Amino acid sequence: MPVQTLLPDMLSGLSDEVLGCMELRQDPLFHKIPPEKISYYVHESLQAGRSAAAAYKDLGIRDMCRDAGLRYEITEASGKFHKVSFRAQIDFSKTPPEIILYASSLKEMQMVCQEILGEQSSGAETDIDLLVDIHLAHEFYHWLEYKEQSFTNERLEEIEVFKLGPWTRRSSVVQCCEIAAHAFCKELLGLPYMPNLLDYAYLIEEKQLSAEDFMQQITTCKLWI
Ligand SMILES: [Zn+2]
Repeated sequence: MPVQTLLPDMLSGLSDEVLGCMELRQDPLFHKIPPEKISYYVHESLQAGRSAAAAYKDLGIRDMCRDAGLRYEITEASGKFHKVSFRAQIDFSKTPPEIILYASSLKEMQMVCQEILGEQSSGAETDIDLLVDIHLAHEFYHWLEYKEQSFTNERLEEIEVFKLGPWTRRSSVVQCCEIAAHAFCKELLGLPYMPNLLDYAYLIEEKQLSAEDFMQQITTCKLWI
């Protein structure tokens, strides 16, 4: 029985830009980004992910991983480290890097799959397969950045984080890599929404985020984008 966490009218208007902005808000330096620059970081990051995906059109993510020599492992180990829960990670200390997917974490997400992914979701078994693909595609983008030593945040303008007289400290916006990875994943797999929506649906379902708070954040993002 699929759950109905997000009502259809909540799903309308959840464009890539809005969900990209939601991701940008997670950046530890988000408050330092001038509001008029928000759409720049969102648009450029989305574009980086989409154009990277265009090079792989019609190739399956599992074949892409195999061809790239990237191994992946689905582990039963907990993805919780210092109270932060991971669904997937890429271990760059291995050669070639290895993608680790956390089974328990993916299973938690299964229940919100159908309402978000619509017809691409067609039962428990295939949902897990699709969730594996989603997380592989996301990590594949990070691997591309690593392989080319060209990280999305470093390709974009830095923001001013501190200024004292003539001395200015600047920093890149790290969350841009996440926006690009979501856009890469959406484009590659033909998903109806940016995949970070799954995380929000899960948090709402688990009552860790209220639907009202979520909608409030969406409304704020729509003003910036
Ligand atoms: Zn990531």
